[in-house]
Amino acid sequence: MVKVRLLIIILVFGREITKFTPTDLPMALHELSRLLAQKPFRLVLTSHWNPDGDAIGSTLGLAHYLRGKGHSVQVVFPNPPSVPVSKAPGYDAPFVHLYDQDSAAAKQAFAQAEGLFSLDYNTPSRVGDAMQAELEAFEGFKVLIDHHQEPDGGYDYVYSQTNKSSTAEMVYDFIASDGGDIDIAAADCLMMGLITDTGSFRFTSVSAETLHTASKLMEVGAQPSIINERLYESNPPSRLRLWGRGLNSLEIICDGRAAIVHLSATDLQECGYVAGDTEGLVNQGLSLVGVEVSVLVREDASGKIKLSFRSKESQDVNAFSREFWNGGGHKQAAGGSATGKLADVLQELRHSLKKWMLE
Ligand code: 5GP
Ligand code: MN
Repeated sequence: MVKVRLLIIILVFGREITKFTPTDLPMALHELSRLLAQKPFRLVLTSHWNPDGDAIGSTLGLAHYLRGKGHSVQVVFPNPPSVPVSKAPGYDAPFVHLYDQDSAAAKQAFAQAEGLFSLDYNTPSRVGDAMQAELEAFEGFKVLIDHHQEPDGGYDYVYSQTNKSSTAEMVYDFIASDGGDIDIAAADCLMMGLITDTGSFRFTSVSAETLHTASKLMEVGAQPSIINERLYESNPPSRLRLWGRGLNSLEIICDGRAAIVHLSATDLQECGYVAGDTEGLVNQGLSLVGVEVSVLVREDASGKIKLSFRSKESQDVNAFSREFWNGGGHKQAAGGSATGKLADVLQELRHSLKKWMLE
């Protein structure tokens, strides 16, 4: 199988592809087009654990496009997204599989594929242990399309642009350079990715190109108002109950420069937590005058503790999370994890923030 893989790479690239920097971008996109133009491939498209709007939107958007080009495409997500995100066109299609709910179908998709795409994550551990083994054992060609910092090796082709607002924007750039037609389903999915990763076009990651992409997607028929309504005005009551508890726990430390909110497993259980309920909660801390870093600490039913970090311009929470919290992400939005008692993790968090911000 190794020989087959090498043959495919030599056939399609003429050489081993490693990583392109943004200055090589037109070539990078061209190489990906050349690869995919060889023949109709059997492909498996994947994204990260707890897939957010960009994970689902970029993956389904690319799936719609590649299916339209005649490839046989299966999509595997490690676990389901929030209910509003799951309303994206194509999410319920038979070619979409959830690894945690139907691992047999997901495994078959990996076993039959000639090529694997990783979208919106920079390291295989982001898909969870069970699916990570699948990625590592995969013997076909592997393509990474992602906007997170410091992507891992292990891919034949890395299309990484950390200045991009979203993976959805990168998928749009690929489709545009590929000269392909984008249908309304793909446009809707990609617009969802743009909207969710930019906080509805509010964050510093929004560029003129981002808005140009949104404009092009609107021309095809994607409607931001309808997608915003689907995402943000169709929540279950548990969401507001949890936000109430979370905001009540607010602590402001480091001379007013850092805010922490937390939710215990008991809070989640008592409020009837469903996936997606706490999305956006961490951003609230940044609405406070003087706050540069905001953290949400959430203890899940499994006992695992998930940390979400958000920051304003000068603070790099990707670096902070890598140093203290076994995680990463972007300069302004990162995540991490911990085990142990919630009270101990909170104490450790206060120390790490003081060390990072005051020393
Ligand atoms: P969130 O706080 O919304 O879960 O994640 C914020 C950003 O950081 C996302 O772009 C996400 O992909 C990334 N991220 C979240 N958790 C982790 C983690 O444990 N490790 C790494 N490397 N990135 C993470
Ligand atoms: Mn993203």
